[in-house]
Amino acid sequence: MRVEIDENSGFCFGVVNAIRKAEEELRRGPLYCIGEIVHNDVEVRRLARRGLRTIDHETFAGLHRCRVLFRAHGEPPSSYALAARNEVEVIDASCPVVLALQRKIREAHARARAAGGQVVIYGKPGHAEVTALLAQTGGEAIVAGGVEDLDAVDFSRPVTLFSQTTQGLEGFREIVARARERAGATVSVHDTICRKVANRVPQLKRFAASHDAILFVSDEKSSNGKLLFSVCREVNPRSYFIQDARDLRREMLDGVDSAGISGATSTPRRVMESVGERVRALAGEEGERNHSKTTARRDVPASQLTRTTCQRSKELEY
Ligand code: SF4
Repeated sequence: MRVEIDENSGFCFGVVNAIRKAEEELRRGPLYCIGEIVHNDVEVRRLARRGLRTIDHETFAGLHRCRVLFRAHGEPPSSYALAARNEVEVIDASCPVVLALQRKIREAHARARAAGGQVVIYGKPGHAEVTALLAQTGGEAIVAGGVEDLDAVDFSRPVTLFSQTTQGLEGFREIVARARERAGATVSVHDTICRKVANRVPQLKRFAASHDAILFVSDEKSSNGKLLFSVCREVNPRSYFIQDARDLRREMLDGVDSAGISGATSTPRRVMESVGERVRALAGEEGERNHSKTTARRDVPASQLTRTTCQRSKELEY
């Protein structure tokens, strides 16, 4: 069986940077991180063994004179203010792309206020990045998770539209089109989708179409993972969402001559490699089983042998 790991998958530079910073800082002693450093349990557990403690905002509020890492998603201004008050040293691993977006939204909001306009953020309500983006506007921006949320926008006033960095381009284009359809609307559009994610969609479509089955490795908590998996599914119905090699089932590989392994921007390369090893091991076991079946068939009457062969052909037609 041909097994290929998608060379474009794996951690984006924002996540690589956050993990590298955490590893460096852990050499100096214990470190806290608000929220999981990456939406991947395997990686979170690896860093926890080295002393990284994942906390929530409530716990963060009670900390004093310690070190806290802000992950790639970014934090609202209130977290920086709280850290300063409690003499907490901030290890800022916010992705530079996210920080730039925070600044743009802050500035656009100041301009919109003066002109009677509104800022709209296309993103997942409650997502950490979106929460920090919304906080740049003092909570005044409108978060639209889909076109239905545009009803909350007053289209008689000017609208400045941004996107969460990990949203899909197609969804964003739809939001832009619907916003522009509304009568009287002046919409200023800022496509702020990270190209690390957006460029992956066409690459992933090609990759998914070039294999019999796709094993998409991601943590269920990753919104980027869910989005990219839906891309695989669209192109290749035999796409399976798995968290690691333990989720692999033999039937996922039935009749498969070529398996592609891909993952989210939060999926460690070594997890995809271990999935590849497991696929090869299962394919090897399957080969051996088929070999012993063929050997055993030598003693089977011809009528039964024909039936077995037909059943196998059916499976291959999948
Ligand atoms: S997906 Fe893009 S914006 Fe988000 S953390 Fe990665 S590099 Fe930064």
